[in-house]
Amino acid sequence: MVATTDLSEAASAVLSNCGSDLCLDLRFLTRAVLSLEVRTVPGTVSPWCDGGTMVLDPEAVIGMFRTDPRLVTRTMAHMALHCILGHTGGGDDPMVELARDMVVEYVLDSLDSPHTSVDGRDERMYTCERIFRRAGAPVTDLVAEQLRNVSRWQMDDMLRTFTRDDHSRHPVSVSPMWDDLSKQAMTEVEAFSRNLEDRSGMLMDVLRIRNRRRYDYRSFLRRFMTTRSRIRENLDEFDHIYYTYGMSVYGNIPLIDSLEYSDTPAVEGFVIAVDTSGSTMRGPVMRFLEEAFEVLRLSGLGRGGAELHVIQCDDEVRSDVTVRSEGDMRRLMAGFELVGGGGTDFRPVFDHVDSLVADGTIRNLRGLMYFTDGMGTFPTRRPDYDTAFVFCDDMCAEHAVPPWAMRIVVRTGDLID
Ligand SMILES: [Zn+2]
Repeated sequence: MVATTDLSEAASAVLSNCGSDLCLDLRFLTRAVLSLEVRTVPGTVSPWCDGGTMVLDPEAVIGMFRTDPRLVTRTMAHMALHCILGHTGGGDDPMVELARDMVVEYVLDSLDSPHTSVDGRDERMYTCERIFRRAGAPVTDLVAEQLRNVSRWQMDDMLRTFTRDDHSRHPVSVSPMWDDLSKQAMTEVEAFSRNLEDRSGMLMDVLRIRNRRRYDYRSFLRRFMTTRSRIRENLDEFDHIYYTYGMSVYGNIPLIDSLEYSDTPAVEGFVIAVDTSGSTMRGPVMRFLEEAFEVLRLSGLGRGGAELHVIQCDDEVRSDVTVRSEGDMRRLMAGFELVGGGGTDFRPVFDHVDSLVADGTIRNLRGLMYFTDGMGTFPTRRPDYDTAFVFCDDMCAEHAVPPWAMRIVVRTGDLID
């Protein structure tokens, strides 16, 4: 028993030292490491962490320490990074778990800090880069899809290379504490990224993906399509700065609803523009149109004689269908084809809509939503109506929009679910 106690004490001392080294190396992990209780439990087959406690076998800790002390720091960093990246509910899909390990290991290999660098870095990075390139982005489910295509022996090799811990104890859902810690880590990495030169680029990418706001795009639609937000005419009644701040900080979703009007116009217009330059967009576009029409119907706009313009445009306006009733909508959806396939230019839609407003075809235009899968040319002038860009992008890319536009990013899965 004495021997076991000694071993446990020695292992605890090693873990405590390695924890300090880890905080020195990777400052952004400090709060995460301090939030975790580190324990040694004899007989623990593989290290695990449930978001509250990190558990390792004392003999394994001493063994790793004798081989290379950095193996201990690396294992701790690996588990802490799972927490920061919000990896939950482990064990269901071995490909997803391997993808998570690859993302974590690739971030640590990219950072290449003194106490966490371990042998085999080049091979690991090469393997990850090959798979990440095919996946398009270091998003775990995209990476997992690519892993389903690798051979059995490659898979075994990758499991040996990237597995450091047991994921079955990962929490079922991410706690608010880890949401906060992740955002803090991102702020810290952003602030100090110059010191890490370009080595923090990959870390920043995965933190951005992890902290991407999970949009309930239906509630965005409801809000955007039914909230009267004539901020331009109401600046004295409206905290414009707060509104704009909310839009820039919280994924461009206004923090507060604008004031309701009592003099509701009888006829209201709404425009949905669809970028038809993408070839695989038909399904998501149809789903989006159905949702948008449902919002209009539920908000009672149909009864007031609302008009929805569905405009297809790639680098020029290809079609403009006016929808006034459910029958119109059904007819539109029944024969819906995307017309286009050229480049992406958002400006023709705004010119077209401006001319329809000018000649009185569209009255009381409430807003314009532009559904697109990529980058295009924005108008330089702020339009006279509220505008939102809905990016359908499975690669989770950053999409910059002009300051006058709102923005949400959805994935195909969000639309189909
Ligand atoms: Zn892991």
